[in-house]
Amino acid sequence: MKAIAVQPGAGVPDVIKRPVPEPAPGEALVRIHRVGVDGTDYEVIEGSHGGAPEGDDRLVLGHEAVGVVDDPTDTGLEAGQYVVPTVRRPPPGTETNEYFEHGEPDMAPEGAYVERGIVGAHGFMAEYITSPAEFLVPISADLAPWGFLVEPLSITEKALEHARASRSAFGWQPDAALVLGTGSLGLLTAAMFSAADDFERVYCLGRKDRPHPVIDIIERLGATYIDSRETPVAEIPAAYEPMDLIYEATGYAKHAFESIDALAPNGVAALLGVPSDWTFEIDGGRLHRELVLHNKAVVGTVNSNRGHFEAAVDTLADLPDWVLEAIVTGIYGLESVDRAFPNATAHAATADDESAGTPDDDTTIKTAVEFTAI
Ligand code: NDP
Ligand code: ZN
Repeated sequence: MKAIAVQPGAGVPDVIKRPVPEPAPGEALVRIHRVGVDGTDYEVIEGSHGGAPEGDDRLVLGHEAVGVVDDPTDTGLEAGQYVVPTVRRPPPGTETNEYFEHGEPDMAPEGAYVERGIVGAHGFMAEYITSPAEFLVPISADLAPWGFLVEPLSITEKALEHARASRSAFGWQPDAALVLGTGSLGLLTAAMFSAADDFERVYCLGRKDRPHPVIDIIERLGATYIDSRETPVAEIPAAYEPMDLIYEATGYAKHAFESIDALAPNGVAALLGVPSDWTFEIDGGRLHRELVLHNKAVVGTVNSNRGHFEAAVDTLADLPDWVLEAIVTGIYGLESVDRAFPNATAHAATADDESAGTPDDDTTIKTAVEFTAI
């Protein structure tokens, strides 16, 4: 079968041949339909995040997948059932640990998990995968074409659950929500916040010039676009309003601290970005005081568990088709894999020859690779 693999930090994604995997007892064989590409994939390709399984120099990419059960073996699943696989698995050589036993692998510390397609385990960009049934979340056939969005939506389900939990000791009634970042995670989250009745007003911060398709999406959602070059995050309360909830999806480390200033009293900021090391100056005393005197919270959140995937399937069903079609700017077959990773090829061209680099494609929001059509 064909799969898409990369040598993290040393290449662009390539189509390779691998044997069709044999399901072990308790595992189903799943034929992959589509797999999404996101910022994490680029971090893996560049070698700044994740890595190949031990003893392998290449990693099969892909952690945002939807497929159909081809051979259920003894799992109790039905052949033909569409499924979305979750991402974390117990480390190689172990069957489980307390986090997996509690259904909370998303809370496992480093070393207590691998992540398929990201770190230590091959991913889902292959014609077939195998997986224990407990890691396969059913999805209806009519939602399956968009099923690769369930994983990123589940990331926001978890972030929201943790943000709400941090405010659960009092009668928190959020009105204004701010999403930082107009990448695929930021836009999907802005769409989720706008579709749900949870927030009266939704804002989304980016750094795009008008006119831009991303700004069109934000405004069609009924949300307000904020340009970070004109209004830095810390100045948002004065220019717009203080925010009850901030969802950071830029990976821009200063936003973690500027968010404290942008929050309303009793507000919470959920940090999702994964920045590299960066040393800069902040007024730690003032920010510490701000957190304390205004009951503010900052929570970091990563990954998601099966419950978040199940919630994300329901959320996906509530999102309007136009927004999914606008965010997913391209779905490509194996013959044009490079188009699914436009930024990886641009980076590689730049690395080989400074002058040969094509600029990063600024209109691509989210792509997916299609292995088999439905
Ligand atoms: P992208 O790289 O596609 O999106 C990041 C966005 O942030 C881009 O649109 C970028 O703008 C924007 N941005 C960066 N810096 C600034 C700034 N100073 N002002 C305004 N906008 C800015 O990534 P994703 O959407 O896929 O993911 C977002 C982040 O979340 C990443 O750091 C990723 O690693 C992380 N992530 C975390 C997960 C978790 O479980 N915690 C799961 C998945 C992703 P531009 O387009 O102009 O470059
Ligand atoms: Zn992802």
